[in-house]
Amino acid sequence: MLVTNHVLSGAVIGAAAKRPLPAFLVGIASHFALDTLPHWGKWDDEKEFFRVAVADGLAGLAAMAVVTRAVVKAGEPGSPGRRLTAAVLAGMAGAAMPDLDKPSHLLLGHKLWPDAVNRLHGRIQNEAPNRFVSHELVAAAGFALTAAALIRRRAAR
Ligand SMILES: [Zn+2]
Repeated sequence: MLVTNHVLSGAVIGAAAKRPLPAFLVGIASHFALDTLPHWGKWDDEKEFFRVAVADGLAGLAAMAVVTRAVVKAGEPGSPGRRLTAAVLAGMAGAAMPDLDKPSHLLLGHKLWPDAVNRLHGRIQNEAPNRFVSHELVAAAGFALTAAALIRRRAAR
């Protein structure tokens, strides 16, 4: 699944959990759960993989920035607002983390996770081409709308 969708689902988890540590841990678990569901993938070659990965990485960072701005803006001043912000950030970070191994290995020459984790991560993928609109975009819209609604509701309390 696109890392952008992991970021958005992590925002949903953070806004629902309201506490950073559970949001972070559930975010990590959600990554593996979502990767087992049918999603877009199975690239023709490395070049296509990189094109998608770079665009997706940038979109994921943009999504993090937009969600962070929204939760900071929506949050009441004081500790409840700060806790919601921290929970949403922790949810997004946890949910995106399993996908950081590849860019870290390519850019820094350093693998973040043990081989066993990366093998499991690779084995659980349920990928097929032609699922961008039907799966990834639909999921992105669902996660973004849910995150926005939760953040608005939590912040209103
Ligand atoms: Zn993944």
